[in-house]
Amino acid sequence: MEARFYRKLEADQVQCLLCPHRCLIAPGGRGKCRVRSNRGGTLLADSYGRPVTAALDPIEKKPLFHFHPGATILSTGPNGCNLSCAFCQNWQISQTDLPTQRVTAAELAALASRDGSIGIAYTYTEPLVWFEFLLDACALAHDRGLVNVLVTNGTINPEPLAELLPLVDAMNIDLKSMDAAFYRDVCGGDRDTVLRTIEAAHAACRVEVTNLVIPGANDADRDIDRLAGWLAGVDPLIPLHLSRYYPQYRMAAPATPEPTLLRLRQRALEKLTYVYVGNCDIPGGEDTNCPQCGGLLVARRGYAVRIAGIEQGRCSNCGRAADIIGLEQQRGGRGCRSNGRAPASSC
Ligand code: SF4
Repeated sequence: MEARFYRKLEADQVQCLLCPHRCLIAPGGRGKCRVRSNRGGTLLADSYGRPVTAALDPIEKKPLFHFHPGATILSTGPNGCNLSCAFCQNWQISQTDLPTQRVTAAELAALASRDGSIGIAYTYTEPLVWFEFLLDACALAHDRGLVNVLVTNGTINPEPLAELLPLVDAMNIDLKSMDAAFYRDVCGGDRDTVLRTIEAAHAACRVEVTNLVIPGANDADRDIDRLAGWLAGVDPLIPLHLSRYYPQYRMAAPATPEPTLLRLRQRALEKLTYVYVGNCDIPGGEDTNCPQCGGLLVARRGYAVRIAGIEQGRCSNCGRAADIIGLEQQRGGRGCRSNGRAPASSC
């Protein structure tokens, strides 16, 4: 399929305009994301309708904690990513080309209508480089009354983002650091693009943010103070997930110590209302407590979810709004399941 958002140049070259890399691609070549190629002067969306996998996941695995807690969602994703993070937690699928299946947008939406899924999560790798398929699949999912969820690095230009956002109900966006040089040198990305995406997405749909905490790279007090302070300036109610890093890909630093996660959580809570620690098993680290009375609203352990103290969308103890949507579709909580360490919630 021909890609959107590009321009044709001399000698059959093209320039992709989907993300800030603005790749110049010669005939026969492909962009940094590896899924957009130039065939004879036309930019093709190579991964259209070609997911690497599809599975029913807990919504908490995205992670989304304030959106339909306890729900199950059909999750899928393509090859490719437009970042190249040295610490990528999913590099086996984001930085290599895996075998794909073929599926139409209609087939995917029909699949998501079955088995109790609330919709489709575009995840695992980087869904934004699946842009053309996202537009089609998200529209058909909405036609069926399903929700669309993006788990993304937020690296997209404003114009395509504006076209996509009306079709999206919730996003988890990685904010890897507030340091522009870290984004450039370690991730091959652009911090300001991500910040702009978070602001635009927050104005359009439900947003939660994930920060992968890497020892020696972004785990200083000043790092979390800066990140939490910026996010609070957008909205202090945006949930922040501090995710434990494990050595992967080209980064060998040891896994994040749990005390580091707890320290950063405490600092972030000085500015933000909801801060979680994930990709590890810290009791209470993923619970939601009422910011007014401290009562337990939602208990989580692994992917077991229990609505503990919410009635009609409010804290059953003090009556404050619970800041969680989709509770009316909550089906009594998900029972415990054996999960071990949660799969990477963040690339
Ligand atoms: S979407 Fe891919 S091809 Fe297009 S500019 Fe970004 S990295 Fe390059």
